[in-house]
Amino acid sequence: MQTFLTKSPSRAAEFIRRGGIVAFPTETVYGLGANVFDERAIEKIFAAKRRPNDNPLIAHVGALEQINLLVSGISPHALAFIEAFFPAPLTLVLPKSAKVPLIATANLDTIGVRMPKNELAREFLRECGTPLVAPSANLSGNPSPTTWSAVYEDLNGRIDCILQGETTEIGLESTVVDCTSETPLILRSGAITFEDLREIVPETRIYQVKENEVVRSPGLKHRHYAPRAKVVLVNSKFKIQNSKSKAFIGLNKTEADFDTEKICDSIDDYARSVFDFFRQCDRAGIETIYCEAVEEKGIGLALMDRLKRASEN
Ligand code: AMP
Ligand code: MG
Repeated sequence: MQTFLTKSPSRAAEFIRRGGIVAFPTETVYGLGANVFDERAIEKIFAAKRRPNDNPLIAHVGALEQINLLVSGISPHALAFIEAFFPAPLTLVLPKSAKVPLIATANLDTIGVRMPKNELAREFLRECGTPLVAPSANLSGNPSPTTWSAVYEDLNGRIDCILQGETTEIGLESTVVDCTSETPLILRSGAITFEDLREIVPETRIYQVKENEVVRSPGLKHRHYAPRAKVVLVNSKFKIQNSKSKAFIGLNKTEADFDTEKICDSIDDYARSVFDFFRQCDRAGIETIYCEAVEEKGIGLALMDRLKRASEN
């Protein structure tokens, strides 16, 4: 398959209308979109990404009215989040409408819904005229793509089109909040923070996987966000293991010498840069990437979540 590269949202939307799959930028990471009502197109997403078929996809809408096409109801808490934040890097898990095919939600009776804020994403969604399911546009398990060239690196020849936009502003995947029970539960942290959500619904909690319990967010149990290099989380004073080639990303410069180094000017910059840094290190054949730990508040919670997962592999 030839992957078509374009900067035109209307050109990219033609591929969706013909049952194809298209990577497009959002404010979080690049997504790989298919028409939410087209089962065959959705099958292509799972195949192209080599995504486990028990990992549900997030549906993206270009307008608030489209949410009703996807869900069978919106709880008062969910409505409060929509009013406070949408469009935003925030995904709400709601009861699914019967019209949405089960392949989109990996057989769950719920669906994650998000309205992206990125202008090009919104233009593209408007041109498509239908909600799109869109997981991150990477091969499953790899760091999420924050540039169109990272999408190209993983998926060239496997998808129909890449809508070429800028580097994503946030760089970490959306916050996922389960709104199907009394208390909203954060399944995945992101740029809409725990603190932001608690301001709207003070009962909001962070989901902790209990032993012997079915995981509420199937994606949480899969290998994620990992470069080929070994990732080591460190505090300011740390000892370097004996590895041939090493890299560092963090907020504070250390005394050690690294083959590749990125000192970020803020936590936002760190979050925005980390996945691309991982890919850069892999291309350079780095063995060990040292990542400075940050305080787990605000977007620091989401950043630490991704760093911990990457270091588990
Ligand atoms: P990705 O789009 O690749 O970043 O992954 C989507 C994430 O959202 C995964 O962690 C999924 O498990 C989670 N997710 C999507 N839909 C649902 C749902 N209906 N219920 C729970 N989690 C979901
Ligand atoms: Mg993903």
